[in-house]
Amino acid sequence: MSENNKSRTDVNKLGEFGLIDHLTGQFPLYNMSSVKGIGDDAAVISNDKESFTLVSTDMLVEGIHFDLAYTPLKHLGYKAVVVNLSDIYAMNGHPQQITVSIAISNRYSVEALEELYEGIKAACAYYKVDLVGGDTTSSLKGLVISITAIGTSTAEKVVYRHGARPGDLICVSGDLGSAFLGLQLLEREKQIWLEHPEVQPKLDDQQYVIGRQLKPEARRDMIYQFEKAELIPTSMIDISDGLASEIMHICKNSNVGALIEETGVPIKNESQLLALEFNLDPITCALSGGEDYELLFTIDPADEEKVKYMADVYIMGEIKDPSDGIKLLSKGGKLHTIKAQGWKHF
Ligand code: ADP
Ligand code: MG
Repeated sequence: MSENNKSRTDVNKLGEFGLIDHLTGQFPLYNMSSVKGIGDDAAVISNDKESFTLVSTDMLVEGIHFDLAYTPLKHLGYKAVVVNLSDIYAMNGHPQQITVSIAISNRYSVEALEELYEGIKAACAYYKVDLVGGDTTSSLKGLVISITAIGTSTAEKVVYRHGARPGDLICVSGDLGSAFLGLQLLEREKQIWLEHPEVQPKLDDQQYVIGRQLKPEARRDMIYQFEKAELIPTSMIDISDGLASEIMHICKNSNVGALIEETGVPIKNESQLLALEFNLDPITCALSGGEDYELLFTIDPADEEKVKYMADVYIMGEIKDPSDGIKLLSKGGKLHTIKAQGWKHF
């Protein structure tokens, strides 16, 4: 291969975000219409001075992002769409179209792919987005799904990761950690099943966390709530990798610090109990778990009254000066530096 003569750097050395920066850092934007390139939940492209198009892509790889031992294909199709729409909502936009590309091995039957597309169709119907294209190809092993979502916003309403200012309140649109705990539970039951195929999994009393893992929803309702309340967050991101990683993105992009209070982080009772069953600290699940697909956003403190009356919004901290760092105030009153948990995919 062509890299033979060069020194070899392992991709793990850079991590996901380091790798993206390394590969894409030297790409200037040539077009005035490219308002925002790499570095947010979606790219922002101007159609004219006021109207913007948003574009976001995500790829799901079998064995890395999903395990068909416990993921029904219909749910997988639904989730693959939802995680992309979530990135459009995270820009305070409205998704309108998707394209779907798949690579499939010969292990997949037409019936299996029909199931996958049933899920994609259900998500299109629920979120009122149109499937307008894609690509189909073969893979040597497993299934890869890549979806691109296209949406709209306006120059006035679009919200980036970079607008947070000291004094802003840090808000989240729903409970955290449950999707990760749902995954732990499914993984545990899979192991039991592999060792004792005659044992039926006991999952009936854990519908909530399993639903959060297998069939997440994107927070379209929040965008409507913002419109109704005439609120434009100062910054926003969706929680795909965990609260720690996402608040760090907001802080890095906005050049600010943050203080999050553990008592303000919404964690459901059933998730707290399940975390303890797994010997995990619930706050660690919220910080590092990911896949919650809630919206993490900051607001001007003058807008506090507006969010107080919104269903499902929790204020859990405040944006600080950059010199204050990014900290968690624990229930016990101790300050901990929030660290990125690094990366799970390679
Ligand atoms: P999200 O978690 O919101 O999906 P990512 O962390 O995947 O966002 O991506 C961060 C930014 O890097 C986005 O702007 C994305 O478009 C860009 N990006 C990711 N991978 C690549 C790549 N291989 N080439 C170019 N841009 C990329
Ligand atoms: Mg995102």
